[in-house]
Amino acid sequence: MPTSDSLALRDHNFIWHPYTQMKTAALPIPIVRGEGALLYAEDGKSYIDAVASWWVNLHGHAHPYIAQKVAEQLQTLEHVIFAGFTHPAAVTFAERLIEILPQGQSRIFYSDNGSTAVEVALKMAIQYWQNTGTPKRKIIAFRDSYHGDTFGAMAVSARSAFTAPFWSYLFEVAFIDVPIPGREEETVKQLEELAQDGDIAAFIYEPLVLGTAGMVMYSPEVLDRLLEICQQFDILTIADEVMTGFGRTGHTFASDYVPRKPDIVTLSKGLTGGTMALGATSCNEKIYEAFLHDDKRKTLFHGHSYTANPVACSAGLASLDLLLQDGTQQDINRLSLRHETFAQGIATMPGIAQVRQQGTILAVEFEAGGTSYFSKWGDTLYSFALEQGVILRPLGNIIYIIPPYCITDEQLDKVYQTILGMQELVTGKRYFEPPTNTTLHD
Ligand SMILES: *Cc1c(COP(=O)(O)O)cnc(C)c1O
Repeated sequence: MPTSDSLALRDHNFIWHPYTQMKTAALPIPIVRGEGALLYAEDGKSYIDAVASWWVNLHGHAHPYIAQKVAEQLQTLEHVIFAGFTHPAAVTFAERLIEILPQGQSRIFYSDNGSTAVEVALKMAIQYWQNTGTPKRKIIAFRDSYHGDTFGAMAVSARSAFTAPFWSYLFEVAFIDVPIPGREEETVKQLEELAQDGDIAAFIYEPLVLGTAGMVMYSPEVLDRLLEICQQFDILTIADEVMTGFGRTGHTFASDYVPRKPDIVTLSKGLTGGTMALGATSCNEKIYEAFLHDDKRKTLFHGHSYTANPVACSAGLASLDLLLQDGTQQDINRLSLRHETFAQGIATMPGIAQVRQQGTILAVEFEAGGTSYFSKWGDTLYSFALEQGVILRPLGNIIYIIPPYCITDEQLDKVYQTILGMQELVTGKRYFEPPTNTTLHD
């Protein structure tokens, strides 16, 4: 019988982990409990979850209010087929999402994760043009974007090492550069040129912050100009708010910073506060109406077994209750201000290439040699943070914080201290033994 310290070994015998080179990865850390921003390991050690468990957790782990609502739902209705049937949690959640979503969004299509939310968005956009009798084929996306791991989502994502084995299977996408500060005009020009071609169905983008690209940021002003071009040339716009949604950027949605609004929005991650797997794709009435027809071939033929799972919708409703409370909004402001202060302090320090901040998201890019050193630094920084009791998953030489909003000032100080420790490490002030185990960090 396995002893208490063998959970990781039992895991190793049967489990294949995501984004993990199983040959060389260190054994996973067994987590047995969570509370607030803290995760507790089997050996009693605690970790500050500075990455909100892959960007999903908003209100802390095992939140009692969400737990209560989920438990109530489980005892009432756990699931029901969502074609031909509906249920209170899905209806109420849709009503409440429409209330807070960017202006114009009027319909909710449920699925079960961010990638499927993106698949649905792409299918809505492509079929829209077929249903309205003017088929358009092409999609435009940002060169460094990440929209998920299913085939459609991979197609509109960066042609990177993540997708390399599948490149020949991915549909063609026209990529434009991310309009980072100082490079806005190039991107505007690229989009203007592409738009002349009448065959563009949609432009999909991560608004203001490209997560997996390394928390790469650009301004609402230039995004508004890109949306203006799309509207002018009748190109549908898809805001992928899977990562940026629900307060991450300071406002409820990143699209709230931009005057022009998207036709379609994708949601997941924070949608349930990080409790349950749920995805949603919203659209405006123009998209929805293009699917209303006596001809059944104009139906959106898409759906998942767990579409609008009642337990997930209840978690979403509970998370929304918490998000809209004054205390949470104050926490979001507190994090934004504290990040800003820390960013100003660290920006000019040696070894720091750039610091970027948008709302509760802070990214620090280290000057850590050439690209060939990226994965070595990623592993080194990851292990260093773990030793300090902080979970920070570097994207190459970029470290970022995207914490649960309830993280305490004290915990946040410890995360900042860890980043300062990394700065010392990178500038070589302190000797550090590189770890023997390596992992691929996304
Ligand atoms: C994480 C992410 C996705 C994919 O979501 P999954 O739930 O992991 O499939 C899509 N788009 C963006 C912007 C993301 O950050």
